[in-house]
Amino acid sequence: MDAESGTPARIGVDLGGTKISATLLDAEGRELARYRADTPRAYEATLAALAQAVGALEGQAGMVGATVGIGLPGIVDGAAGTVRAVNLPWLEGRPFAEDAARAFGRPVRIANDANTFVLSEAVDGAAAGASVVFGIILGTGVGGGIVVDRRILPGANALAGEWGHTPLPWRRPEDGPPEPCGCGRSGCVETLLSGSGLARLHARRTGEAVEPPEIAERGAAGDAAALGTLRHHADALARALAAVINLLDPDAIVVGGGLSGLPGLYESVPALWGRWALSPAPRTRFVRARHGADSGVRGAAWLWPPSS
Ligand SMILES: [Zn+2]
Repeated sequence: MDAESGTPARIGVDLGGTKISATLLDAEGRELARYRADTPRAYEATLAALAQAVGALEGQAGMVGATVGIGLPGIVDGAAGTVRAVNLPWLEGRPFAEDAARAFGRPVRIANDANTFVLSEAVDGAAAGASVVFGIILGTGVGGGIVVDRRILPGANALAGEWGHTPLPWRRPEDGPPEPCGCGRSGCVETLLSGSGLARLHARRTGEAVEPPEIAERGAAGDAAALGTLRHHADALARALAAVINLLDPDAIVVGGGLSGLPGLYESVPALWGRWALSPAPRTRFVRARHGADSGVRGAAWLWPPSS
């Protein structure tokens, strides 16, 4: 407990394939301690490393009994917290939440890291105050998650918000033929909106191979070809999000990931999505993530919500 306020402090852990990052937040979300380590590549060693992170953070902050939440790049299923994670194969099929609870001597909440990103932004980030928040990560892949009243909506199959693997709607000939996707299907939102999708779009439009950061830089400098590609990408994003607005009608859509800083994104997408949504001028806020790289640890900490 936090001795002064009597409310629990929260530990959030971002468990990646190579790094463990962790934070300890006080009841108001201020960071009191921080910890980083390499992720061991074995199950028992990972549990031990996480227990060590919890102990180190509580030692730094001079307190005990903090709640613990963990975000990881995988699908977390059922009460035992069984994990399916390509980047953490040694967790595969293990009752990870149960075993972590035993290792830490307290209950542990575990969630997919796209969901913890959305939670972080919904609690005290760019989407603070919004009731229904849809969060998207535009980067190497395209991920997403849904938070309602500061709680993650996991879904019956732990799949809610997996918008990157829905079909790109209202396709136009200029989008090109549906491309194969990493999920084994083709024509998914991810194939056009991810970093490689943006580069492929630019190559189709101009015949030139340019990496996404260079496309963004040229666009910001006013290069007409890059601006054309960015407009096309924004149009596809607007179509894909109009479908989300028709289905979920979120109060806010928050964007993170490597492509979240594309020039003009936050002006062009809301100007376009009314053509496809059933409302001609959706009131949905469209905002860039505030917490950046910290959203993983912060969102994991908020798995124990402010009201609990
Ligand atoms: Zn897919």
